[in-house]
Amino acid sequence: MIIDLRSDTVTKPTPGMLDAMMSAEVGDDVYKEDPTVNALEERLANMFGKPKALFFPTGTMANQTALKLHTNPGDQVICDSNAHIYHYEGGGASFNSGISCKLLDGHRGMFTAEQVIEAINPPDFYHSPLTALVEVENTANRGGGSCWDFEELKRIRTICNDHSLGYHLDGARIWNALVAKPETARDYGQIFDTVSVCLSKGLGCPIGSVLIGDEDIMQNAMRVRKILGGGMRQVGYVAAAGLYALDHHLLRLKEDHQKAKDIEQMLSGLDSVKTVEPVETNIVIFELLDKKNDGKFINLLADKGIRLSSMGSGKLRIVTHMDYSDAMHDKFLTILKSM
Ligand SMILES: *Cc1c(COP(=O)(O)O)cnc(C)c1O
Repeated sequence: MIIDLRSDTVTKPTPGMLDAMMSAEVGDDVYKEDPTVNALEERLANMFGKPKALFFPTGTMANQTALKLHTNPGDQVICDSNAHIYHYEGGGASFNSGISCKLLDGHRGMFTAEQVIEAINPPDFYHSPLTALVEVENTANRGGGSCWDFEELKRIRTICNDHSLGYHLDGARIWNALVAKPETARDYGQIFDTVSVCLSKGLGCPIGSVLIGDEDIMQNAMRVRKILGGGMRQVGYVAAAGLYALDHHLLRLKEDHQKAKDIEQMLSGLDSVKTVEPVETNIVIFELLDKKNDGKFINLLADKGIRLSSMGSGKLRIVTHMDYSDAMHDKFLTILKSM
């Protein structure tokens, strides 16, 4: 039995999801004639209380499109130094949009409204890049699945209004925040101009992300998606998985969160573990007492069929997900206990 805890992207479609996919009604989505894609876009737009939503093959492409829609070449986006758009999108911010990132030194992937104010370049000072956008990530991936305080997000909204800045949410794991915190999708839709969500993480779809936003900002989204190579044809087969997941896999995220909590507790009791970051959702980040032992620790677990990942700087990451069963959980906890 391989227990893969490297990421929540390793899940495979369930039989029910495959059935939904195989029986999907499809059409050419480049002509906007795929009824299943249209239904998924409409459903997510409604869920977030926004007029527009557009289906993408990946979260990276959805985020990159958002960056392009909000900025002009030379502009700057304010984001956390741990942001996915900065670390894990291949330098796309500069490649696709010709923009730079103003990195904030936040706490667990999250920053404050005061930090945003300080990071905004005065628009009439033409020596510095023009600040155009603030981007936040919820939950914050490299922050350890941490959830933003909604009041802070609202304060940042006010600042964006005051300075005419766009406000984008990378909500690849917004689903986890939605089940862990009281705020609804609509609450997020109300304060952000654009929101990207991933269907291929906690929700267990094989492919798919959606960018949701206001009418004006989304006007060019189809064009940008086409330029990036993301215009797809009978993609309703994939969108059907998304519709299925929203019906069947959203509330069960609570189980992933509970398992992550159990792992946190077990790790905290191990002599070889120095710190475990507080678990809020489905990600556990921890550090060994001796950073040099990272590779050894990973290999030791790999020998027992357990996979986890290193984040560098001595940090290890475990992510719970739909395909991490109760039996796997019991086995993993037993193995950890014996270490
Ligand atoms: C996974 C992820 C994305 C999108 O990644 P893709 O692999 O391109 O779908 C975006 N933002 C965050 C925070 C992520 O974790």
